[in-house]
Amino acid sequence: MTEKIHLLSERVANQIAAGEVVQRPSSALKELIENSIDAGADEIQVLSRDGGKSLIQIIDNGSGMGPKDARLSFSRHATSKILNSEDLFQIRTMGFRGEALASIAAVAQVKMKTRRKEDELGIEIRIEGSEIQEELEVSCPVGTSIEVKNLFFNVPARRNFLKSDIIELRHLIAEIERISLAYPQIFFSFFHNQKEILHLPKGNLIQRILHLFGNSLSEKLVPIQEKTDILEISGYVGKPEFSKKTKGEQFFHLNGRFIRDSYLHHAVLNTYQEWIPEGHSPFYSIHLKIDPSRVDINVHPSKTEIKFLDEKIIYTLLQTAIKQSLGKFHLTPQIDFEGETGFSEMSIQARNLPIQFPVSNINLDYNPFISTEKGKTEVPDRAIPNHSINDPSYEELKPEITAFENIRIIDPSPWAKPEAENIETENHSEPANPGLFQEEEILSLEDRFIRAGQDSQSILQIQKEFIVTSIFSGLIILDQQAAHERILFERYLRIFSGQGEVSQQTLFPQTYTFSAQDTALILELLPDIRLLGFDIREFGKNTFIVEGIPTDLQFRGESPIFDEILNNFKENLQMGSFNQKENLARSLAKRAAIKPGRYLSLEEMRLLIDQLFACESPLFSPSHKPTYITLSLSDIKKKFKE
Ligand code: ADP
Ligand code: MG
Repeated sequence: MTEKIHLLSERVANQIAAGEVVQRPSSALKELIENSIDAGADEIQVLSRDGGKSLIQIIDNGSGMGPKDARLSFSRHATSKILNSEDLFQIRTMGFRGEALASIAAVAQVKMKTRRKEDELGIEIRIEGSEIQEELEVSCPVGTSIEVKNLFFNVPARRNFLKSDIIELRHLIAEIERISLAYPQIFFSFFHNQKEILHLPKGNLIQRILHLFGNSLSEKLVPIQEKTDILEISGYVGKPEFSKKTKGEQFFHLNGRFIRDSYLHHAVLNTYQEWIPEGHSPFYSIHLKIDPSRVDINVHPSKTEIKFLDEKIIYTLLQTAIKQSLGKFHLTPQIDFEGETGFSEMSIQARNLPIQFPVSNINLDYNPFISTEKGKTEVPDRAIPNHSINDPSYEELKPEITAFENIRIIDPSPWAKPEAENIETENHSEPANPGLFQEEEILSLEDRFIRAGQDSQSILQIQKEFIVTSIFSGLIILDQQAAHERILFERYLRIFSGQGEVSQQTLFPQTYTFSAQDTALILELLPDIRLLGFDIREFGKNTFIVEGIPTDLQFRGESPIFDEILNNFKENLQMGSFNQKENLARSLAKRAAIKPGRYLSLEEMRLLIDQLFACESPLFSPSHKPTYITLSLSDIKKKFKE
């Protein structure tokens, strides 16, 4: 018993390796699609169930495998893609480690059917937890179909670690977005729970982008193109005025492979910094082609991190390419308004103009004298931007789940009225939106307690943001927005639990078109969204029509309110901890709550206070901000003694 070291069994070794290659359904999906691409497929179909947890199936029309290769493909370090270590520096395929299939088969129930063109019959192999269960000859189409069922069925700790179906689904879609952008010439379709979520016909890059992110993007992008001896850059970048806080619409592909690279992201942001607000990023889908011997992609098993030689040159070239393109194609609104010229003529004119930097009317503080200096930033070292920028891609979840609460600044909320209107409202004694406070009064103990010390003279609104009132033991100060959010949140939760209903009002029906990702999300949420009083239905591909909105949200005019609620929802999703209904209630409450800057009548303030203390948890807003603070008499007395 002196020997302690022994070799791990193939099975255990595979399970350990699987932890690196397969973290969640989307990572298995990525590996399988990459294999299909390497096999020369130009049609790839993906089927999934329950966020990929129960099933991921990839069907391709690639080369297929003979029986021997099919068997071997599940062994570790079995690959047809490299032979020796020199090949490592000339990688032109997506895979090369020979780990993916072995890893997936170690932690799932896998069935593969595959056939080559030259074979009459194909082979079917069933393998579970690395053990081959069955092997038989079958007739099947040329190509390969791989079914991965019950991922982590034998590793409960990992299975429990998976997120909700909806989050896993978003990862799946994000993965397909990334890969399909690199291969617009390949047809992709993606089904989830038997519903087709993505249908991406073969085409070029811009067609692929529009299929994924919606046609509305077409006016918002400019092409970029740059070619030198060592590097070729191509793709599309967003015009500065369409930059958003949204993360996840920034894509770098290097030699056909999606990469995360904060250094290059920094190069892009640096180019835009004059024209976009801090924290915003433009859309971009940028393809880099570099001689494979000048990059090292073998840094991490997921192959999304890379090292380049010549990285400073790439940084500079990327900036130049973007600047030129924005200067060339970005026709300013001024030209737009002046011109009777048609668009095509205009772009020809634009081509002959000297290269200029785009003018954007977003940054009102923009000072051309200061910023030209700023624009001449030296090319930083890779180490610096890694810490100084907000790279969208570093955290796993961030790319897909977005927070763009602040983008809709132009859209006035029904409550945040322009100053002039507020003044008008102040002169009326009636609340501007009676619908909001029409709830019956429910008096809680605490409520009565407060009432006891409260009379109408002692309620005061300060700075149109806080409400001060006296209670017999001192003062309380409410944050009007936080308090109202709490009230609405609990009301919506009651609606979900069947204790109440929201009436709805028809307005001019409005249609909304969403990206495939958001469409999937809305479809999941549809029943709950309806419950809250939205009269909404699907209306063609990726499009919904809204014919009624909850009473709380009634207001004049049209606004992309529905988008906002969705964005709030996604933001909450990112924080991870809420269930779907709670999340929706929170998002809607946030949207519907009165905002600072809104004058409140005495009656409204009284109702707000009453309703807050009728809440189950009046202390905090649904986003955990305090709704009120108290200042006790003894505190006040103490302050005067100090
Ligand atoms: P790698 O892709 O790194 O070589 P994998 O474990 O992903 O390793 O795949 C092992 C081998 O199985 C590949 O090298 C390839 O020869 C074969 N293979 C896997 N998937 C397919 C497919 N869809 N079509 C044809 N061959 C495949
Ligand atoms: Mg592979």
